[in-house]
Amino acid sequence: MSSSAMPAPSDPGPPGPPGRSAAGEALFQERILAHYRHPRNRGPLAGASRSAELSNPLCGDIVRVHVALADDGRTVREARFEGDACSLTVASASMMTELVVGRTPAEVADLARRFAALVAGDADAARDDSLGELLAFQGVARLPARRRCATMPWEALARALGA
Ligand code: ZN
Repeated sequence: MSSSAMPAPSDPGPPGPPGRSAAGEALFQERILAHYRHPRNRGPLAGASRSAELSNPLCGDIVRVHVALADDGRTVREARFEGDACSLTVASASMMTELVVGRTPAEVADLARRFAALVAGDADAARDDSLGELLAFQGVARLPARRRCATMPWEALARALGA
């Protein structure tokens, strides 16, 4: 398992704003790159309650998500991820593993739904401050072929949680 954060040669990178250079979009893109270059919670998880792996043949992305529940079994105590994946998948997984700590599986599922709406171009989701850093992904709405790159870690987490 490679832990390298170097981009694959074919990685097209996060969605840039071709022809549009709004400062806001550049900032969003920078958040994605920051998580890609320095992913949080990457690696195996000792004592993981559950794990799930998914792959995206379009990009060759593979992501495996590990989750450990709190002692009461109700909330996420820790989540980590492994895999070889493009910048969007790695950044999404990195942000996800930070955001889901302390949440119940139902709350995680709700956040995943709103994030999926964001990358599908939903205007309400784009104004939803509760998505936090995930708002950086709103540019993906213009790249339908790469939406799954962003949502796949969340699908893997849902599977691990049995949702
Ligand atoms: Zn991808």
